[in-house]
Amino acid sequence: MDLTAQYRRLKPELDAAMQRVLDRGQFVLGPEGEHLERELAAYCGTRDAVAVASGTDALILTLRGCGIGAGDEVVTPCFSFFATAEAIVTVGATPRFVDIDPRTYAIDVGQIEAALSPRTKAVLPVHLFGHPCDLEPLARLADRRGLALIEDCAQAVGARYQGRRVGAWGRAGCLSFYPTKNLGAYGDGGMVVTNDPALAQQLRLLRTHGSRGGYHHTAIGTNSRLDELQAAILRVKLPHVDDWNQARRRHAETYRRLIEQAGLDGELSPPHEQPGCEHVFHAYVIRSRQRERLREGLRKQGIGVQVYYPSTIPQQPALQHLSPAPRSYPMAEQAAAEVLALPMYPELTEELIRQIVGHLVDLLKPSARVRA
Ligand SMILES: *Cc1c(COP(=O)(O)O)cnc(C)c1O
Repeated sequence: MDLTAQYRRLKPELDAAMQRVLDRGQFVLGPEGEHLERELAAYCGTRDAVAVASGTDALILTLRGCGIGAGDEVVTPCFSFFATAEAIVTVGATPRFVDIDPRTYAIDVGQIEAALSPRTKAVLPVHLFGHPCDLEPLARLADRRGLALIEDCAQAVGARYQGRRVGAWGRAGCLSFYPTKNLGAYGDGGMVVTNDPALAQQLRLLRTHGSRGGYHHTAIGTNSRLDELQAAILRVKLPHVDDWNQARRRHAETYRRLIEQAGLDGELSPPHEQPGCEHVFHAYVIRSRQRERLREGLRKQGIGVQVYYPSTIPQQPALQHLSPAPRSYPMAEQAAAEVLALPMYPELTEELIRQIVGHLVDLLKPSARVRA
């Protein structure tokens, strides 16, 4: 993924935005961050937004802001980036893992009920790879059981479920501006979007050492702010994010069409889009029983492929103390063995997609290439 291509296209606007911050001389908590908060809340369709230092901090501070800590349990999918479960453990709570829906890689909502206990306080689903999880039944379940619904939107900014953006469905949505995310800064950054004014106020307190200003501290908080340079950069990029997501969707469609035309759909599965969902393809993840052969073969051709993720979260060494009796998560374990992310970014070309699918044909059906 080439991040400099996007910078070159927006260079005059980005340079002017950065210069504006340097000339103003206010670098932490200033007008750029405040504007960005309002612009992102409007974009996601929430009342408020609070900028923080990273997507990980967005998760940690939201959990704390919802009063979740030692003795509490949080239900979360067993297949995600490690930060999702790490945030739960960081606040002193215990993650209760649930297997995934093998088509969307998101939490299997039908299995959540069985993971609840009297200590469950929240459910933390992930819109993995940019595909929304099944939000409607999930929001109903959270409502019925009195649980806080906190969405991990780090990979899915702009994605919609039944026409409404992710992040606006529950108590809060947590975004990441890590440079490779669909809306990326030039460093770390994150945001919490919420319709709950009391939670927003609490988050503003927690991100600045529990102080509303001056040297009077009413809570144990931390230092977690988005700096003004990153906020100014993100304000230039935000108006383009829908176009970039549409470009990703077009590339996904091209991949799918070429994979089908090549007759590869028996050997590998392209990603699935659930009806009513708008996938934003943070990652274009195929699956195949021959994943290792494809990974090696594509790498030899210089194609940047990745495995997100090679194991489930409960299998991570850092979490072995949580469940002395190892449970199995068959859908996620199979996904971990079969998934492969192919190149995906807005500036990708049809020509490169053709080359990549051509390499897949060579690897899976060498005889077909000779005949063609
Ligand atoms: C990137 C990511 C995070 C963490 O965001 P950072 O900004 O890198 O701290 C959390 N959850 C998921 C699913 C992510 O992909």
